[in-house]
This record gives sequence, C-alpha cells and structure tokens, in this order.
Amino acid sequence: MSCDHDLDAEYLHPGDVDILEFHEENDELHVKLALPCPECSEALELDAKVESVEEGDFELPLSDELYD
Ligand SMILES: [Zn+2]
Repeated sequence: MSCDHDLDAEYLHPGDVDILEFHEENDELHVKLALPCPECSEALELDAKVESVEEGDFELPLSDELYD
C-alpha cells in the first residue's frame, strides 16, 4: 500500500503528529515527523527543514493542551 496524496494543511492537526527525531543535513536542522495520511491513514514520515527559530510566546514546560 502506498500513499501519494497531497497533504492539505486544512486536514493536518498538531495532535495527530509525533516528532520522531531531529537531525542535521548540510549543517541545517531538520525535524522528522510521523503522522497518518488524512485521506488514507497510511503511516507517513515527513522530513522538514527548520527555516527559522524565534522566541515563542508560551509557557514552559510545554503541556499537551498546547497541541489540542
Ligand atoms: Zn494517503
């Protein structure tokens, strides 16, 4: 079974996503995400490059409520 659905931000929810790992490629920070395809529920791995890092406006430690 394979999935070639285009991922639509409208159907992606932070609560459905797990962070698998951080890693570096060419001195750039990447983050690997695990999530189910919203269309077919296939297990997907996303590799995303971190484009920017800024101070966030939230309390630490992070709570699960942030992801609801
Ligand atoms: Zn799919």
